[in-house]
Amino acid sequence: MISIQGKGVSTGVTIGPLYFYQRAKSTIRRYEVEDPDAEWARFKAAQGKAIEQLGELAEKARVEAGDEAALLFETHQMMAEDMEYEEAIQTAIQDNKLNAEAAVTDTAAQFAEMFAAMEDAYFQARAADVKDVSGRIIAALTGVAQGGIDSPVPVILAADDLAPSETVQLDKSKILGFVTEGGSGSSHTAILARTMGIPAIIGVGDQLKPEYEGREVIIDGSTGAIVIDADPDARAALLKKMEEQKRTRELLEQLKGQPNETKDGQSIRIYCNIGSPDDVPAVLANDAGGVGLFRSEFLYLNCDDYPSEDYQFEAYKKALSDMGGREVVIRTLDIGADKQIGYFNLPKEENPALGNRALRICLNRPEIFRTQLRALFRASVYGKLGIMFPMVTSVWEVKEAKKMCEQVKQELTSEGIPFSEDVEIGIMIETPAAVLMSDRLAQVVDFFSCGTNDLTQYTLACDRQNADLGRFYNPHHPAVLRALKIVCDNAHKHGKWVGICGELGADLELTETFLSIGIDELSVSPRSVLPLRQKVRETDVSQVKEKVLNDLLSDENTI
Ligand code: PEP
Ligand code: MG
Repeated sequence: MISIQGKGVSTGVTIGPLYFYQRAKSTIRRYEVEDPDAEWARFKAAQGKAIEQLGELAEKARVEAGDEAALLFETHQMMAEDMEYEEAIQTAIQDNKLNAEAAVTDTAAQFAEMFAAMEDAYFQARAADVKDVSGRIIAALTGVAQGGIDSPVPVILAADDLAPSETVQLDKSKILGFVTEGGSGSSHTAILARTMGIPAIIGVGDQLKPEYEGREVIIDGSTGAIVIDADPDARAALLKKMEEQKRTRELLEQLKGQPNETKDGQSIRIYCNIGSPDDVPAVLANDAGGVGLFRSEFLYLNCDDYPSEDYQFEAYKKALSDMGGREVVIRTLDIGADKQIGYFNLPKEENPALGNRALRICLNRPEIFRTQLRALFRASVYGKLGIMFPMVTSVWEVKEAKKMCEQVKQELTSEGIPFSEDVEIGIMIETPAAVLMSDRLAQVVDFFSCGTNDLTQYTLACDRQNADLGRFYNPHHPAVLRALKIVCDNAHKHGKWVGICGELGADLELTETFLSIGIDELSVSPRSVLPLRQKVRETDVSQVKEKVLNDLLSDENTI
């Protein structure tokens, strides 16, 4: 038996075979071939395989997301057999005797550079496509799967770390749990694991050896314990815990249909965080009141090119209609920092968390923002929509974003396209500037939603992605909790509601604090809804409020 200790970031015990995530190799071997004709045949076979895979993906996309989504893969199919592209590869192989992998890599770089230099944004975006298509052909040549799970049975997935774009593209039905070498509790992989209700452990370093692949592993996401080939006693103990968790879930089921009301009658809304309309069944199954944060950037991360207005409209419409009239707050595009998307071609930055991200990108590239806003307002007639902007620091940003909403509404009116006039517009409170300006910001929005993952990062000047900063990244820090109180007081002064959609919202140690400062809504992963409801129903705010507020502001509470 081998025991490994990591940091649990998504609870639950699970058992299954260990599987190492396959990432396409980034270093391509380059050599001279003796038989260029045979090498050309190798290329043609790989090209055929890539075209076949793209065809299958197009069909899958058509079924899951409609014709528009399928078109993307069909375009990639055409690119893979584009005559000029093929001729350039043929020249490299047959005239220069280059091996196929290197010939494809060089041709991709040459075409991508040519597209990137074009004036038209449409052609510029093709640079990412040609790289993507070439990556697929290279994967077919080298036999290395492109970041997938090639296993007939569900597995516990091990990786060094997973980028959000990689996590989002995984086949979720194949994953029982995650174990990563690096990562941090507030990274987006950890967040996604919680949303999906899958146990996850991070920060195991180099303790997982490749030779463990395929061996039976049990992971406990609440303690961070990983056991490979468990001996009978350890196995029985962990499986017993798994059973107990199942029973606890069953008990929690009895809370469905009950109000989120404290013993002394104070109510709070409990909503869910989602990353796609596919998460809505889990929201409803856990009896949440609505969606408090739909991370729309995951739609973008899932695409190989800018998602069109229609593609986005279908996704928002689906989430709104499936929620059957319960509120859905959709956050506008929040990329940059750890959420990088190739086709945006964003320049590399020294300090990406402080750089061109989130609302800043939308205001700097209004054509992208406008497409999203049109899709959102068009979808607004299918349910109760709220829109919120991430990473706000100034009142002018909110005014500019709201002005774009008005322009989009005018356009839709003149085109005779219906939209709802009853859409709440809010902002995320994620920066100290937004906290300090919350009295002013409250006057220009309908609500605040506190993004405590980033608010902790920016308030404590502590990178949320950096696993080495664990004890410095402390969302319980009084500076963060005081910030929440300031925001709450300022919002309520102006009759606006306040939610928390960061991971802290599900932290049961702080539920009394949130109720005492008057938070109106907590938005959490689906699996956290019922435990939170239980905690709320056990709390008597009148009994704890004075102490909680005194502690929050007391001289001793300096950490
Ligand atoms: C947050 O920062 O708390 C938040 C909810 O947004 P994200 O985690 O997606 O940055
Ligand atoms: Mg954030």
